[in-house]
Order: sequence, then C-alpha cells, then structure tokens
Amino acid sequence: MRPIQFIVATLLLSLTLACNTTSKKENTKHKEHSGTELAHWGYEGEEGPEEWDKLCPAYSDCRGHHQSPIDISSDLSTTSNIEIHQNYSYVSGVDFVNNGHSIQVNFNKGQENKINIEGKDFVLKQFHFHFPSEHTIDGKELAGEAHFVHVSEDGHISVLGVFIEEGEPNEFIEKLTHHIPTEVGKKTIVTESICAQSAFSEHDEFYIYEGSLTTPPCTEGVHWFVRKTHIQATHEQLEALHKVMPKHNNRPVQPINDRKIGELADL
Ligand SMILES: [Zn+2]
Repeated sequence: MRPIQFIVATLLLSLTLACNTTSKKENTKHKEHSGTELAHWGYEGEEGPEEWDKLCPAYSDCRGHHQSPIDISSDLSTTSNIEIHQNYSYVSGVDFVNNGHSIQVNFNKGQENKINIEGKDFVLKQFHFHFPSEHTIDGKELAGEAHFVHVSEDGHISVLGVFIEEGEPNEFIEKLTHHIPTEVGKKTIVTESICAQSAFSEHDEFYIYEGSLTTPPCTEGVHWFVRKTHIQATHEQLEALHKVMPKHNNRPVQPINDRKIGELADL
C-alpha cells in the first residue's frame, strides 16, 4: 500500500469510527450495500439533501460555502486561460455498479485514463449519472448529467460534467445499456471497449468553477468543468439508465456566494 493510500484508508477508518459512535440510528440497508459510506443518506425526507450535514460529523462540509451543484448564469462567466488536455483511450472490462444512489462505471488499475490540468495529471476513477441534471444553466435543468471524476496523485479532485438531453441515439450510452446493474449492490462488467472521449469532442467549451462533491461527504476544493454543449441520447436509452436509479438523484443547486464562474474555450 502506497503512503497516500494508507493515509486515506486510515482517515476513512477514523471517520467511520467517529460516525459509528455518534450516529443516531442504524440502517441495515446501508450495511448491506455500501462499504464506503459513513452514514446512510438519500434524496428525500429525513435523509435528504437538507439534512446531509447533520447525518454524520464527516458530512459537515455539506453546509460549506463553496458547494455544488450551482445554477450557472451564462451572462456572468469570464474567460479563463487554464490549460487542460484529455488523454482518454479505449478500455474494456470496466466495472458497472449500482450503489443505490446512481449507477457508476469504475476504472480500475490497468484501465488508466487521464486528463492534464496546468501540467498536473488527474486519473479518471469513475463516471456516474444524475437524473435530472444537477447543474442548471440560467435556471434550466436538463434531462440528465454525467460526472467524470478524476483524482490526482496528491488527492485533488476534478470533475467533468456533461449534460444529456433527449434526442439522437448515443453509441457510448448504448454500450452501457447492455450491462446495466439492475439491483442495488450489484456489479456487472462492460465487456465492450468504451472511450470516455465519446462523451466529449475535440474542441469542447466548459464553464469552470471551484465547488464540491454533490453527494456526502460534499468535500470542497473540487475543480468543476461543466461542458457547455449537451450530448444526446434517445428516450429509451435514458429510460434504461434511469429506471434502476432513484427517481430524482439531483442535489438542489447551492448558493454561489463569493465564487466566480469562468469560461474555458477550445479544450
Ligand atoms: Zn455526480
């Protein structure tokens, strides 16, 4: 185990212990289906987004001032000069898991895909889906949003968000629909080769800002790149992904506070 992994593992263990002693209620479903969650959470009622920060001390970031998602005002953004390069390639045999909050494709060892931001590598760990979209543009939500989560060697997180709207067939999503993990806690293998680049294009434009994970523990310091152009998928493709997930798995938009939204052209 490398030192950074050891530190993360130790931190997770201590947070888990902290939660076990302070959590008010047991949830057997949580124990069955999740090895990494610290306290059970959801999108409705007493475990819903308004309560996340109270469910567990480790979720206190959820009441932070730089949270995600946000509503992006297309008028207010300013041009940014950050340099970013995507180095995605085809990989096969990726895991596809249903964690009860979303369905998620995990990239394991030997399936490395990277982006490079200002000379620093971020490795693609996973992507997952939200229905409807979490970010909104000028107050408008879209049918769905995919999040591509990247982590650097020193533990910094960059997420590329891609809006999905109903329309033309999507070859990338079609491959996934053949392997959907239909039950919570289940895992399938996507045997076909997939390339995350299919969700992007040569010359992408993004809104960029500093935010957080949109699910507990809502960790802040996340670099967000929200793609301006939407990808399309058919009603049937979207339905296939959505029907095995909670009806709404989008956290409501959070206050922008003192943050600035930048525009990044020509990725
Ligand atoms: Zn997400």
